[in-house]
Amino acid sequence: MFSKILIANRGEIALRIQRACREMGIKTVAVHSTADADAMHVRLADEAVCIGPPSSRDSYLNVAAILSAATITGAEAIHPGYGFLSENADFAETVEAHGLAFIGPTAEHIRTMGDKITAKTTMRALGVPLVPGSDGALADLNMARKVAEEIGYPVLIKAAAGGGGRGMKVAQTADDIEEAWSVARTEARAAFGNDEVYLEKYLDRPRHIELQIMADMHGNVVHFGERDCSLQRRHQKLLEEAGSPALEPAERDAIGATATAALTKLGYRNAGTLEFLYQDGQFCFIEMNTRLQVEHPVTEMVCDVDLVREQIRIAAGEPLGYTQSDIKVSGHAIECRINAENPETFVPNPGTIKVFHAPGGLGVRMDSAIYAGYRVPPYYDSMIAKLIVHAPTRAEAISRMQRALDECVVEGVQTVIPLHRKILADPSFQKGDYTIHWLENFVASQTPE
Ligand code: ADP
Repeated sequence: MFSKILIANRGEIALRIQRACREMGIKTVAVHSTADADAMHVRLADEAVCIGPPSSRDSYLNVAAILSAATITGAEAIHPGYGFLSENADFAETVEAHGLAFIGPTAEHIRTMGDKITAKTTMRALGVPLVPGSDGALADLNMARKVAEEIGYPVLIKAAAGGGGRGMKVAQTADDIEEAWSVARTEARAAFGNDEVYLEKYLDRPRHIELQIMADMHGNVVHFGERDCSLQRRHQKLLEEAGSPALEPAERDAIGATATAALTKLGYRNAGTLEFLYQDGQFCFIEMNTRLQVEHPVTEMVCDVDLVREQIRIAAGEPLGYTQSDIKVSGHAIECRINAENPETFVPNPGTIKVFHAPGGLGVRMDSAIYAGYRVPPYYDSMIAKLIVHAPTRAEAISRMQRALDECVVEGVQTVIPLHRKILADPSFQKGDYTIHWLENFVASQTPE
């Protein structure tokens, strides 16, 4: 087992990884920008190294600085968390070339799944069902028109290098296709430096359901059930649940068997998430994330597993030590992402936290790196906390989340807590009756206070 791990991230996820390390008796190295010198992940680490100025490009994405920090501190492995360098195949390769372990999949698998077109082709060959669409990249607008006619409107033009919901445009009819084509390509070029696009049938009322996979280096692959992440705004998740209110256990078992068989054939290792759109009882693969997800705690709560610990054990070469039949999903978990944003306009609201009180009690977990007096910097993601609850049933989990949100005090910056309260009180949400479009409509229907 490793004796020291460098965590190439910040905020709540850096703390989350430190917690797993500490419980395993592993020393931690934090890296930070000058803007994060007072951050909790720096204060609680065994060692900390400043790797650059505030801009992510010069600090949390600065590969040379991160590798130097690992070398001078004698770290044996690097955990990338999520975001930043977590899905950068070149980074994974460089880490291993320096004789360190990368806590994640192989660079080759990151590369394959990082290109959504290659990811879809690979998954189709492995027997995973896909959203109907173009067979690879679109060569030109004419080809886009032709494929759209074949599969029928509405269609979605998506960036091969896509992420964070960018480079994605819907064409409702043939009249929109030219614009969708050019906007998606322009956005993709600006965001990813790659304007390759493909086309998918635009599903009108799907749920976003994803499967948590874990694979060791000895050919053992298991899944930890599903998360329902349909509640999204601008393709960004806001509230997640495990399990999905829409899924029967038999459906979970079936898609889980398909997914684990596919990843076994692929020789995948470490944590991964297969994302699907689910409509009319059908699963359609859209992409795979080759890293730990923001919403992993809901899975941890219902499966009673520490996914970060599993990632570290696997990277150190240990076998899983259990099989699919040992994994039981018990009760229901919900996560609310608490972003420092205006709850109506969603404009980020960085500033100093004046008062902070974290909720507690039975079945309540708060993953956060904020404290009273902490200055939320304007340079990074606006998520400042994740509130997670676990209860025997979904109805009890909803009541518990409502109670926990009422206990939560964050003063000094605006947060989306008022929106979460409204969502949890809504009858459609309470029935579990929602699709990926529900939240946008819900937000639009709210009258400003
Ligand atoms: P990104 O990597 O940018 O997050 P995804 O492919 O994961 O892109 O899609 C993000 C979200 O966009 C999905 O969760 C879903 O809400 C929506 N979406 C993606 N593909 C489709 C589709 N074919 N039809 C309808 N909605 C889609």
